[in-house]
Amino acid sequence: MQNAVWVYFRPGFNPPESVQEFVAWAKAYDVKVVLLHVEGKKYADGPLVETQIQEFIEGCIQHELEVHGMYNALTSVPDAWIQAEYKDLFCVDYHGISILDEPISGRRLFMDPKKPEVVELLKQITANILKSYPGLCGIQLDFIRYYHMESTLTMDAKAMGHNVSILKQGNPLKLQAGDSKVSYFLHEAHMLYDDPPLGDRFVFQHKFSYCFCDECLKGFSRTYGVEIPEALEQTSEKAQWILDHAADKWYDYRCSILEAVVREVYLVVKAVDAKKQFSITVWYNSPYGNELMNKPLDPLSVVRDFGQNWWSWVNRGYLDFVCPMNYWLKPEGFGDVTKEQVATIQNKVPLYSGLLRSDEYPLDSAGLEAYKVAAKDAGAQGICFFHYGTWRNLP
Ligand SMILES: [Zn+2]
Repeated sequence: MQNAVWVYFRPGFNPPESVQEFVAWAKAYDVKVVLLHVEGKKYADGPLVETQIQEFIEGCIQHELEVHGMYNALTSVPDAWIQAEYKDLFCVDYHGISILDEPISGRRLFMDPKKPEVVELLKQITANILKSYPGLCGIQLDFIRYYHMESTLTMDAKAMGHNVSILKQGNPLKLQAGDSKVSYFLHEAHMLYDDPPLGDRFVFQHKFSYCFCDECLKGFSRTYGVEIPEALEQTSEKAQWILDHAADKWYDYRCSILEAVVREVYLVVKAVDAKKQFSITVWYNSPYGNELMNKPLDPLSVVRDFGQNWWSWVNRGYLDFVCPMNYWLKPEGFGDVTKEQVATIQNKVPLYSGLLRSDEYPLDSAGLEAYKVAAKDAGAQGICFFHYGTWRNLP
């Protein structure tokens, strides 16, 4: 077994205090591959050497560790782009709302992978990171997917008095806290009485499903020969029509958009040096771990929700290895999921099965052994520890 680890120097990620501390840990845990997070947007305009990153890479190399620069692909938004002028470069959801107007949870932005400027940005960042640190063995893309969340807000309106009429008026209901704001759309309305105004249960929804911008819709119609009825005006009407009438084509379309991005970045990595490696992180189930949600495993949910038909990207030869984030699974489930992933890619490239440890999902040394056995039996190259800061003091 040869393992991998994600390392972050971000605040709050409990980073290593020294290279020595880290390499001793790596040796103890059979780690050979280090996936070092770098902040992508800093490298948008050209190479840059961050001393801390540089010293860490050099220290790892001296101890025969392979280091790869890892960055968040579609969320590495340059600060200069966060303004109305660049709105077209951001994703638009099911309701027609741009992520620039309503960032997820008030702060998360992500870009539209269909836009040439976005692809060009990722190519630049990739090349610049590799040029900044020639010792890197390759690049790993994290967040190479569409964001997806079906958000439901249920309100008990019994004691709301006359203000219940605001809920009844319908759409959208705007929630704001500080600078964060989000729209919700009425899904169900239950009243006890209209007079007196005694509300009951109101259910609102927001489908954070992407990208329904005009350009993506046009591209879809053109590529798949699907005519969206002209009578439909609202984005949500068009989106629902697509999901009702051509869902599989829509999912395929989104996968192909991401595949094109993966291909472009792969070409950049290999153009810098054919020996440099290219890898990505992927999900195994949407929206989170199936065990955590008490639901059956649904491997194709990552295609429907995230556009991650990643086994196809392996088949096309774009990836040198993959790191599925097989989080929140008991050892048995972890083994089953990993085994299926290895079988799906027919063992064409190494697979490091991502294992999360956190305060909410604790694990000790004995627990880790069970995961190691499961990963080995499943045919994985090894485990990918998420992340060093949570694994460094394993009891
Ligand atoms: Zn779009």
